[in-house]
Amino acid sequence: MKFGGTSVGDMDRLTRAARRVRLQVDEGRKVIAIVSAMAGETNRLIECVQSCGTMFDAREYDAVVANGENVTAGLLAITLQQMNVPARSWQGWQVPVRTSAAHGAARIVDIGVDNVLARFAEGMKVAVVAGFQGVTNDNRIATLGRGGSDLTAVAFAARFGSRLCSIHTDVDGVYTADPRIVPKARKLDRISYEEMLEMASLGAKVLQSRSVELAMQYKVPVRVLSSFSDSSGTLVCDEDPNMELRPISGIAHSRDEAKVTIVSVADRPGIAATVFGALADSSVNVDMIVQNISEKGRTDITFSCPVEDVETARQALANIHGRGLINYQGLLHDRDVCKISVVGIGMRSQSGVAAQMFSALAQEGINIQVISTSEIKISVLVGRRYLELAVQALHDKFQLDRDNRALGEVDRAQCVQAQEEI
Ligand code: ADP
Ligand code: ASP
Ligand code: MG
Repeated sequence: MKFGGTSVGDMDRLTRAARRVRLQVDEGRKVIAIVSAMAGETNRLIECVQSCGTMFDAREYDAVVANGENVTAGLLAITLQQMNVPARSWQGWQVPVRTSAAHGAARIVDIGVDNVLARFAEGMKVAVVAGFQGVTNDNRIATLGRGGSDLTAVAFAARFGSRLCSIHTDVDGVYTADPRIVPKARKLDRISYEEMLEMASLGAKVLQSRSVELAMQYKVPVRVLSSFSDSSGTLVCDEDPNMELRPISGIAHSRDEAKVTIVSVADRPGIAATVFGALADSSVNVDMIVQNISEKGRTDITFSCPVEDVETARQALANIHGRGLINYQGLLHDRDVCKISVVGIGMRSQSGVAAQMFSALAQEGINIQVISTSEIKISVLVGRRYLELAVQALHDKFQLDRDNRALGEVDRAQCVQAQEEI
């Protein structure tokens, strides 16, 4: 059971989380409860670090930023003990959660099970574990990247063979779009790992994308639930044949994107390799890429990246330009764009989704700046001021507020009939 920041945001909420855990214990289960820091606390700690200056040791950043979770783990354990539930808290290094040394974005390498299992064998009912953190081979604290408690939760569920990984948050499941942007968004009862992975990596922060990747890899059933109500939430699981009946399952957005254009570079083998090699060496997180032929053997290259990477990207490109490795006429950037994506496994078998998406945006007068696609998603880059309008227009266009199960049944009958005819 994982409790996010809002779910442990104050002592009242911690008590409610503890009651939810106790219910499971009362049913005879042992629980690993993974906690986030109280809402806002990780941001506060990051600001503290940044106030010391822009250049800092990433190991010390982690030493500070991991602390929000330590506090909530201890508080939840105390609250449970006061309810007569045998519980204790564990920080990442105590478990231990072994991670890579990529401070601030560490990967979980392994989770030791012996310590926790030994305590369960002695009668402990709840292991309260601080999410988002682990320990490197050098015995330094490492954090897993923003939203990383979800990853801790899925990793524990996989390692301990839990029957379910429940993610308790401030919405009662995964919606067809962020309910803060589309009030008409509809909660999904189920979503496939693949779709959830696309949604999460395209900006739907209800689950951290690496946690979904891990859940898919280890086949961990994940249920996203509200901490504040008793709805059944959304089950993230293997593909259900019925899911394919809808072309689009959801719309994701990512607000803080930027677009960089390298104007007129030579159109010959090796240029793209040099450009993106330099960006990779500077750890710029490049996302969408387009290349347009311009005149006389020259081409424009446009790519998108997070807003905070723009300056690094510009410097990396100016550097290779200065060293004569590439030769461009100009470098343009736009920090006011966002990415909107439609996601659905039904797209594999249904054509026309792109046309519908583009016409919905055109009807609202929204210009598409960059497009990218995969088998189950289409993403566009548009001006940031259009974010809400674009998400709502697409939600309407694909009628995602309607529960299309009934429609699905009709389609399925038609499908069967069509197949028989073939
Ligand atoms: P927690 O602190 O519990 O980890 P997060 O803030 O990380 O919670 O994630 C929950 C938030 O994700 C919701 O409040 C909601 O605004 C946002 N969100 C974005 N896209 C979706 C979606 N498709 N379905 C549900 N929530 C979404
Ligand atoms: N507290 C961390 C964050 O805010 C991890 C998490 O909440 O999942 O990113
Ligand atoms: Mg989260």
